[in-house]
Amino acid sequence: MLADQSMVRVRFAPSPTGPLHIGGVRTALYNYLYARKHQGTMILRIEDTDQTRFVEGAEQYINEALTWLGIEIDEGVAQGGEFGPYKQSERKAFYKQFADQLIEQGLAYYAFDTPEELQEMRERLKASKMPPKYDAVSRSSMKNSLTLATEEVLRRLDFRDENLVVRIKLPRNEEVRFYDEVRGWVVVNTSQMDDKVLLKSDGMPTYHLANIVDDYHMQISHVIRGEEWLPSAPLHVMLYKYLGWEDKMPKFAHLPLLLRPDGNGKLSKRDGDRLGFPVFPLEWTDPKTGEVSSGYRESGYLPDAVVNMLALLGWHTADNREVFSMSELIEAFDLSRVSKSGAKFDLKKAHWFNHHYLMNLNDQEIADQLSTYVSMKYPNFELSRLKDVISLTKEKATFLNECVDIAPFLFEKPTKFDEKTQAKKWNEEVANGIEELLVEFEKLEVFEGSILESIVEEYAEKKGKKKFFYFPGLRLATTGEAGGPPLFKIFEFLGKDETCERLKQNIQKLNIAV
Ligand code: GLU
Repeated sequence: MLADQSMVRVRFAPSPTGPLHIGGVRTALYNYLYARKHQGTMILRIEDTDQTRFVEGAEQYINEALTWLGIEIDEGVAQGGEFGPYKQSERKAFYKQFADQLIEQGLAYYAFDTPEELQEMRERLKASKMPPKYDAVSRSSMKNSLTLATEEVLRRLDFRDENLVVRIKLPRNEEVRFYDEVRGWVVVNTSQMDDKVLLKSDGMPTYHLANIVDDYHMQISHVIRGEEWLPSAPLHVMLYKYLGWEDKMPKFAHLPLLLRPDGNGKLSKRDGDRLGFPVFPLEWTDPKTGEVSSGYRESGYLPDAVVNMLALLGWHTADNREVFSMSELIEAFDLSRVSKSGAKFDLKKAHWFNHHYLMNLNDQEIADQLSTYVSMKYPNFELSRLKDVISLTKEKATFLNECVDIAPFLFEKPTKFDEKTQAKKWNEEVANGIEELLVEFEKLEVFEGSILESIVEEYAEKKGKKKFFYFPGLRLATTGEAGGPPLFKIFEFLGKDETCERLKQNIQKLNIAV
C-alpha cells in the first residue's frame, strides 16, 4: 500500500552492536516526538547486516530502554506492520536485486581487489599526498569490471571470487546537493567521495544500500539521525538518484553531536566513568568481557527526567522553557529549533531535572518504586512505613535510591557514630541532659515531633542554654550522624519505644568513648 504523501513516517534504525548510547536515545526521542506531533508513524528497524559486529542481547536492550523511557514504537519487529520484516537480516534476499539493477545500468560495478591491493592503493595515494579513496580516478588502476576484460570478469563471477564486491560508480566531478532540515543546504562534490561498497562478498548489503532500499520501501518521510551520518548523506542522495527514487527521497535532519561537559569532543563512556554519570539508559553487561556499565535506570534516574534532559540537548523553545512532560514535548517539538552546534552534557542539570521529577512524585509512588530495593536491603522493614521514610528524605534526594540511602537510621539502629560531632558536641553536660530528657520522653503518651521539640527547648532554657544546645547530641545518639531530616520528625517516625531504646543504649556507648 502506498502511504499518503503528506504522512510522516520516521524510523529509528539502530545496529545491535552493543548498548544504546544516550546520543542514540536522543535520536529515537526526536523521531518519536516528530512522529507524534504530526500524527505520524514511528518505526523501529534493526540494522543488523554487519554480522561481524552483532552483539548478543543488544536488540533486547534497545527495546527495554525505549520502553523504560516511554518511546512507543508503532511498527517494528515486535509490533509488526505492513512494511516488514523490520530486521534487515530477515530481508537479506531483497537487497541484491538493486545492486544488480545498478550494475545493469552502468551505475555500479564489480570489484575484486584483495585487502592487500586496497592497502597498497591507499598507501600509494597517501605517499603522493592524495586522499586515499577508491574513486573515479583510482578505480582505473584497480581490479574491477571497468578495467578487466569481460571474460575475466565473467570467470571471476563464475567461480565467485572471494573478494567480489559491488561498488557504486560515482561521477568524477559533480555537485551533490540536498537540503538538511537542521543545517540548510549541504553541497558536496563527488570528487570528495568514495565509490562505496554496496554489496559485500558474502552477498550481504552494506549499511548504505540496505538503509536506502529500506527507507524507500518503508516509505520513510524524514530521516532524523545523528550528525555522524552526515558524511554518508551525499552518497545516499546519489543512491536515490541512481535507483530512480529521487522524487520519494525523505527529508534529512542531522542532529548535533552530544559533547563532553567541557565541550571538548564527543561524549564517551570514558567521560561518563570519569565524571560519574552513565552514558547508557540501562545497565549493560558486556556478554564477552562481563564488564558492567552503569545505566540511568539503575542509578536512580527517573525516565521522565531523562527524557526531559535529553530533549533539551540540541533543541529548545523560543522562550528557553525547561520543564516538559512527554506530551508537552510532543506539542512543542519542532525540527527548525534543533541547533546546529553540538550540545554539551550538563551533569548539574541532569541532577536538577531528576530532583525536580522526584519531588513531583507523591510519597507512595516513590515508595512503590523502591519497595523491591528496600526489601532486599532491609528484609525486616515493614514496607507500609516506607512512604513515611520518603516524606522525610525526598527533599534532600537527587536519585530514587537516595530516598533510602541517605537515612539508613530510619531502617536500622546506628552502629557507628560521627566522630567529629562526637568530639565536638558530646560531653558530660550533654549526656546528663539527654538522660533527663529521656525520662521526660518516657512519660509521654503522644509521641509527636512538635511536643518533643518544645520539651527539649524548654529544658535547654531551664538550664540556661541555647535552644539548640541538645540537638546535636540527641541526633548523634539516635541516628549516629551529624545531619539529616528534621530531628523530631525522625523521633516521631521511630516512635517512643525505639527512640528511647536508642537513647538509652547509645548514651552509654558515647560516654564510654568520650
Ligand atoms: N544503523 C545506523 C545506526 O546504527 C542507522 C543510521 C541512520 O539512521 O541512517 O545508527
